[in-house]
Amino acid sequence: MKVIVSQCLRGVACRYDGGAKPNDAVRRLCSRVEAVGVCPESASGLPVPRPPAEQRDGHVLLRDGTDVTEDFERGARLSLERVRASGALGCVAPLAVLKAKSPSCGSGVIYDGTYTGSLTKGDGAFARLLKREGVCVVTEDVVRSCSPSVEHPVAIV
Ligand code: SF4
Repeated sequence: MKVIVSQCLRGVACRYDGGAKPNDAVRRLCSRVEAVGVCPESASGLPVPRPPAEQRDGHVLLRDGTDVTEDFERGARLSLERVRASGALGCVAPLAVLKAKSPSCGSGVIYDGTYTGSLTKGDGAFARLLKREGVCVVTEDVVRSCSPSVEHPVAIV
């Protein structure tokens, strides 16, 4: 089984602040499946570190209002190409575990563009493309801790 995973959840320091967001449950999952790691913002050529960005009114904006929508959409498209080339879309039930709230990877809920920590309904640019391809997209919040002794070690709730 191949699972699409946000690289920062695997411990790769690709976030805007130069850090990672390693998640134990996601890493255990990655040890039991064939993980297809992607970072759409890195794929776009954006540097690490880089200014934070949030979505607002259908655009991705930096805090000063600079519109970086095209950068984020390019990264999403290139990451989708990588996913397609990996064969992950051909799984019976394609699955992605992505970083919550991100303007690229967030699913269902993202930061609202006010830079206040407030959230709104919506998908990150990459999550949106994956959903259009029929991928089940979840975030690290719903990947439960798993046991190495069971056949199917991850439960999605
Ligand atoms: Fe990259 Fe997505 Fe993680 Fe942002 S949330 S650092 S785009 S993998």
